[in-house]
Order: sequence, then structure tokens, then C-alpha cells
Amino acid sequence: MNEIKEMYCELGISKEVYEFGEEILEGLKERFERIDKIAEYNQMKVLKAMQKNRVSEAHFAATTGYGYNDIGRDTLEQVYADIFHTEAALVRPQLTCGTHALCVALSANLLPKDELLSPVGKPYDTLEEVIGIRDSVGSLKEYGVTYRQVDLLEDGKFDYDGIERAINERTKLVTIQRSKGYQTRPTLSVERIGELIGFIKKIKPDVICMVDNCYGEFVEIIEPSDVGADMVVGSLIKNPGGGLAPIGGYIAGKREYIERAAYRLSAPGLGKEVGATLGINQSFYQGLFLAPTVVAGALKGAIFAANIYEKQGFCVIPNATEERYDIIQAIEFGKPEYLIAFCKGIQKAAPVDSYVVPEPWDMPGYDSEVIMAAGAFVQGSSIELSADGPLKPPYAVYFQGGLTWYHAKVGILKTLQEMVTEGYTSIKCCDKIG
Ligand SMILES: *Cc1c(COP(=O)(O)O)cnc(C)c1O
Repeated sequence: MNEIKEMYCELGISKEVYEFGEEILEGLKERFERIDKIAEYNQMKVLKAMQKNRVSEAHFAATTGYGYNDIGRDTLEQVYADIFHTEAALVRPQLTCGTHALCVALSANLLPKDELLSPVGKPYDTLEEVIGIRDSVGSLKEYGVTYRQVDLLEDGKFDYDGIERAINERTKLVTIQRSKGYQTRPTLSVERIGELIGFIKKIKPDVICMVDNCYGEFVEIIEPSDVGADMVVGSLIKNPGGGLAPIGGYIAGKREYIERAAYRLSAPGLGKEVGATLGINQSFYQGLFLAPTVVAGALKGAIFAANIYEKQGFCVIPNATEERYDIIQAIEFGKPEYLIAFCKGIQKAAPVDSYVVPEPWDMPGYDSEVIMAAGAFVQGSSIELSADGPLKPPYAVYFQGGLTWYHAKVGILKTLQEMVTEGYTSIKCCDKIG
């Protein structure tokens, strides 16, 4: 259809770049169909949970003050519990982000002298201060909770011997991060998480297994709570918020652990009973309803980018053909100006702040400059198309999101256009792409 090509042209994408993208897409049809099937399944899973809990207009009404009897909030939590197949869930705007939700889940269920174990290597950056890996005011370490870590083996496998040795009489909670986050280790499939939990529970049946589920929700048809996780935790400005949740986090799991989390979040004695939702329940429900297709679009974008940039000769992680277990894509550019050009392309494709030019800056907490591109409806939302990377070797960009596949597509083409225009790469045409 020529009109489409013209429209891309009006958005600044040349015929060559567009056609290169189309040829890449030819080879991705079957994979995209599989992703659509997963989205279809998950759409019904969400729908079924909403119908079962008789979600109705009354659940969208605003509450204020203490928020007693906020039926929208309470029902939403039951909907989450049904989707994750758990006894209970805590889902609310008072959980301000993913880090906060993880912090609440941990500090509610770990007491002084308990030990926390990560059997999958170093956790996400922001958790270092929560745990006290980097000394920090208010960390678990300050409260006398110790921490042990077992790294993955060189080939990405679990170090079962090391894990067995690390588990001791004080080991109370095990934290398993599903997504690689911004590291180079592989993302864990739900199946592998299940194997790990099975192994750990055989050694110590009463240990609490928590999964940091960030960026993983709805990528597969099962979730870690389907394979033995006692708690799954995540952010609503990532996958399950569907791009519409303006804030929030969730913890789903065994009733006992969720109740403790609620007492930690509000106050002992108050728990889940308080916490007004101020009228944002509708966006939680609606975002959750859209999340399966939003995640599918983001996944397609990640795979499209991997194929484009691998074909252009760059190292992409995961590679063009690997199975996906989260929505993050890394591309190693090797040169700072390439990384910057990529981020400029993402920014130029944004629906918000497209005219802004991203520049590297000294962000607090980082040991090099960082560049970020995001033109999002919700500040910092990384289910929306976004990219960032530290200005240091290997000059890797991490990017993720896209509220629709078509937006992810135009964003990625825009990055390639930027690279081509700057003369950093050229369209290497296009014998058969598999
Ligand atoms: C994003 C993320 C977090 C933290 O979530 P925020 O909402 O940014 O606080 C924790 N763990 C992983 C794996 C993440 O991707």
C-alpha cells in the first residue's frame, strides 16, 4: 500500500529504511503469530478474572480519606489474585513503583536475624540499597537482615551446589529476578523459575520464594506463581498497567505474606483496610485489560529491533532468534555516537515531547553519563517506547515498550533512519532474510 510508505516518508523515514524493515518483517510472520496466540490466551485470562469478580461501574468510583470499603480496590486485588492464581494480592497506588513493592514484600516478611538469598546473581540496581548491598539508610541490613547471593554459572545455568550450600537455618526468603534487567545474564523462563523453586523447596520447604516479575508479566501464558512462587511482585508502570496505570505496584501471593505486606505498607492493625484510590481504579482495570496486547506489541518491537540491528552487524541481546521471556532488548553499539543516535530516533518517534533532543547527563547514582529517550504519557513509564544506556563501553542501549506494535515499529525504523542519515550504517540489502 503506497499510502503507508508515503506516511512513513512524512514521518521522516526513507523508502530504503522502510523497505528494509518490511523485508525483515517478512521473516518474522510465524513468530508474531505465536506472540498473538499468547496475547489471545492472556486476554481471556484477564477477561475471565474480571467477569468472575463481577467488575462493574461502581468499582470505578473515587474514594477519599481512609478509603474504607473501597470496593474498586478490593475487587481489583481479587482480579489480580485470580490472574496470578494466588490466594491474595495487594494492588494499589500507595505502592509507588516496582522497587517500593519489592521493598514492602521483603521488609514485611523478613525479620531481624533472617537471611535473604538471591540464587540468580545480583538483583536489580535499585534493590541494592533496599537490601543494603550498597549501604543505605533504612536498608534491610540496618534492621539486621543478612543477605547472601549465589551467581549464575558462566553458561547461565543455576549453581545448584552453591545454592544448596548457601541455604541455612536462617534463610527465610529467596528472591528470584525473572528479567535480566540491565545485566547480561539470560532472562529466566517461568519453567526455569519453577525448576529452581522446586529445588529450593526440597532443601527447605518453608522458605518463602518471591519472584521479581518486572517486565515479565503476560510474556508467557503462565506466571511464576503457577510454578510455586509464594509471591510475585511488579510495577504497574510496566507490563500489567497496560500503559494506562498512572502509578502503582502489585504483590500477589499466599494470604499470609500479602497480609504482612499490607501491614507493612500501611500500619500494623490497619493493613488492607485503608488506602483510598482517589478515582484511578478505572485506569488500573482498563490498563490490565489492555496489558496482554500491549505486551505483545512491545515483544514484537523487541524482536523486530533485534533482527534489524543484528542484520546491520551489531551484537543484540537477546539475539534475533532467541525465545523471549521479557520485553527488554539490548543492542551493543560499541560507539557513543551510535547510542546517542539511536536514542534520538526513539525520541523523535514519541507521541509526547518528540521535538526534544535527548542528551547524555550525569545522573545521580551512576558512574558514567547516561542518555535516556522517553516521550511518555506517564512519567518514566517503560511499557511505553523508551530507551536508555550508559555512555561507557560497550555503549549498549536498552530499550523496551511500545503501547502499540505500530508505534514500536515506527520508533525502531526512526532509530535506523537516524543511524543511516548520520552515516553510521547503511542499508545492507537484503538477500533472503530468514
Ligand atoms: C524496573 C524494575 C524494578 C524496579 O521497578 P521501578 O518501578 O523502576 O521501581 C525492579 N526489578 C526489575 C527487574 C525491574 O525491571
